Amino acid sequence: MIPFLDLKKINLQYKEEIEVAIARVLESGWYILGNEVASFEEEFAQYCGVKHCIGVANGLDALTLIIRAYGFGPGDEIIVPANTYIASILAISANGATPVLVEPDISTYNINPSLIEEKITERTKAILVVHLYGQSANMDPILEIAKKYNLKVIEDAAQAHGAVYGDKRAGSLGDAAGFSFYPSKNLGALGDGGAITTNDDELAEKLRALRNYGSHEKYKNLFKGVNSRLDEMQAAILRVKLKYLDKDNEKRRQIAKYYLNHIKNEKVILPIIESGNRLSHVWHLFVVRVENRERFQKYLKENGIQTIIHYPIPPHKQKAYEEWKHCSFSISEEIHKTVISLPISPVLALEHAKKIVKVVNKY
Ligand SMILES: *Cc1c(COP(=O)(O)O)cnc(C)c1O
Repeated sequence: MIPFLDLKKINLQYKEEIEVAIARVLESGWYILGNEVASFEEEFAQYCGVKHCIGVANGLDALTLIIRAYGFGPGDEIIVPANTYIASILAISANGATPVLVEPDISTYNINPSLIEEKITERTKAILVVHLYGQSANMDPILEIAKKYNLKVIEDAAQAHGAVYGDKRAGSLGDAAGFSFYPSKNLGALGDGGAITTNDDELAEKLRALRNYGSHEKYKNLFKGVNSRLDEMQAAILRVKLKYLDKDNEKRRQIAKYYLNHIKNEKVILPIIESGNRLSHVWHLFVVRVENRERFQKYLKENGIQTIIHYPIPPHKQKAYEEWKHCSFSISEEIHKTVISLPISPVLALEHAKKIVKVVNKY
């Protein structure tokens, strides 16, 4: 069986360096918010091209705390793509604000900028863009709308470490961005982790307090904060893996290029790279669309290829969001009904990619 994702193989590439990093933390005697977190924050901010990085416990907290730091809550509306992973929407709900769903573009799977303006009301405070599957959202028109209506632009960059739009990296395209270092992400820890990036000095300072009980200074609490800190051990591991992120993303691009050039089956709709994004897509996932997906998935499995669906149920059809039960988002529904992700990773062997292409073409 060709596994969908071989995390063990990914991490064992850097075994020795990771062991050195873990030993360094063990011997430091300092396990929370120490040198490793501070150094990783500096290195990741520099990598993304922003002034500040604030390490937090996971990607959902990163997004939730950004919204909280801006003070958006009950009565406020935040625009978000209808086909995103549920965490982007949960971050809005967690603050008591209202998520306002906007349909994606059927070819890129990212939010369709031309459908945003009709959803803006006087309660709209922000647009939460998601760089889904590793491709940056179409930022120029989004930033223009945000400027016109004085809205914040928050990036969900959990699938887009290293992605580029124009000459800037994901994480530096809006007012603030949330990253996840969940093990399967392009930059993955050996456990949970997350970060916020921003150029906003004031926001960064507030977030540093919010993640740590609302305290800048021990036992002085300016805000009712939370405990959501990036772990010192995970930060040490992420520092190792950050050095190889561009190389790992390049390997993903090679696999994607091979699939795009060689999969030839009219039943299989290939992903589309928005023009200008050619070098910047980081292929967190390689998502194709097929009618009768269950049959296709079964066929691949019978031929030794493991696949995963990202994602089978649209957020507005989830039990957790019963209030949207009667809403219809036909493009998002079509996407959720037909998407299926083929294996892609920095350690997927070319022979495996070749086999996958052969099997897909024979379907
Ligand atoms: C993974 C992911 C998140 C959440 O990250 P966690 O670290 O698992 O909390 C948020 N948004 C998107 C798009 C993701 O893929």
